[in-house]
Amino acid sequence: MHPQLPGSKRCGCKNRREPDRANSPKHEKCIRNCRKARDADAGVAPAPPPRFVNAKEQSMPDIKSMTIEELTELMTSMGEKPFRARQLFGWMHEKRVRTYDEMSNLPGVLRNTLAGEYPLLTVRKVQVQESGRGDTRKYLFELYDGNMIESVWMRHRHGISVCISSQVGCRMGCRFCASTLDGCVRNLTASEMLEQIYEIQRLTGERVSHVDVMGSGEPLDNYDTLIRWLRLVSCPEGIQISQRNITVSTCGLVPQIRKLAQEKYGITLAISLHAPDDELRRELMPVANRYSVDELISACREYFAVTGRRISFEYSLIAGKNDSQEHAAKLAGLLKGMNCHVNLIPVNPVRERGYRRSKAPEVRNFQLKLEKYGINVTIRREMGADIDGACGQLRKRYRDEQNCK
Ligand code: SF4
Repeated sequence: MHPQLPGSKRCGCKNRREPDRANSPKHEKCIRNCRKARDADAGVAPAPPPRFVNAKEQSMPDIKSMTIEELTELMTSMGEKPFRARQLFGWMHEKRVRTYDEMSNLPGVLRNTLAGEYPLLTVRKVQVQESGRGDTRKYLFELYDGNMIESVWMRHRHGISVCISSQVGCRMGCRFCASTLDGCVRNLTASEMLEQIYEIQRLTGERVSHVDVMGSGEPLDNYDTLIRWLRLVSCPEGIQISQRNITVSTCGLVPQIRKLAQEKYGITLAISLHAPDDELRRELMPVANRYSVDELISACREYFAVTGRRISFEYSLIAGKNDSQEHAAKLAGLLKGMNCHVNLIPVNPVRERGYRRSKAPEVRNFQLKLEKYGINVTIRREMGADIDGACGQLRKRYRDEQNCK
């Protein structure tokens, strides 16, 4: 709805009267200007920019991020029998209840103590958008401190997958991404990463079988939390998502890729590559100033050698930028002899960046060229392009409209 209030004289926007222009960028700019004008008229100071929530502020005990071993220590320190830890873990992660009151086999005194000292943090649904085909829903969730994150639910032939965020915003600065436009506000906790899956399962009533850590944030920039989350999400006493059904996507933090290989998880590692050489990659992804394409590919080869898990390379096709036949040939040369898979993604346009997606014939020709060189390649099925498909877009739009965090 247009936010113009009586008393604000600065809005002459005709777009608000014409429904077919309701979603135009012009109209959105007008909404922002009107909101500012309204606030100025009312003497309201603009909302402060996002700030980093420091470790002390985040020190609220987060019981849902604890492993069974840590819960056992906690129960023992509270004078309880160690088996209470498994009961508590099962209520939080297998039955996924929201309150201690529902944990019927725990003593009332223990439930009261826990409720007072260890709040059960959840995420709150603020908005949901559903694609026209009904196979994709994008959720905007609010965290306990008022920050917002996005998660995406998708229905596939092979089951239900959820794409989750690992940070509020992102500091990696990829040029085609909306998540990074305002930088990184803070890391998510393991329980906040879990709760995105739990809450979507509660809301839809359908079991989630696959999880992609591909939403806002660079998961390897929040490494310790990612490892804790991996342990919890695949734990047999919890929601038990098979590691084979988990994909972690990175823009290419080479030391962390090497470290992750040594953890020997059975997950799929996806690399956001998007360019076959350093020059173009630096233009699209600032991380390429730190790690060259050669260093990245060598870390990927090492990852495969240690884990035996095939690497997936994500390649967003941007019209006139990285989608030529020469780019395809270069990419094929780079990945030659590697056990990998290339996922071609026509880029989701982000208004602030001005990139356009490649047209269908270019996408198809790029695929054919890679196939000619023996590269395993697919074009990602487009899901959610009609609902702020690019990662971070829904949060950005909501923040702009609300002028909030
Ligand atoms: S693409 Fe991923 S790593 Fe790059 S800025 Fe966006 S969220 Fe961060």
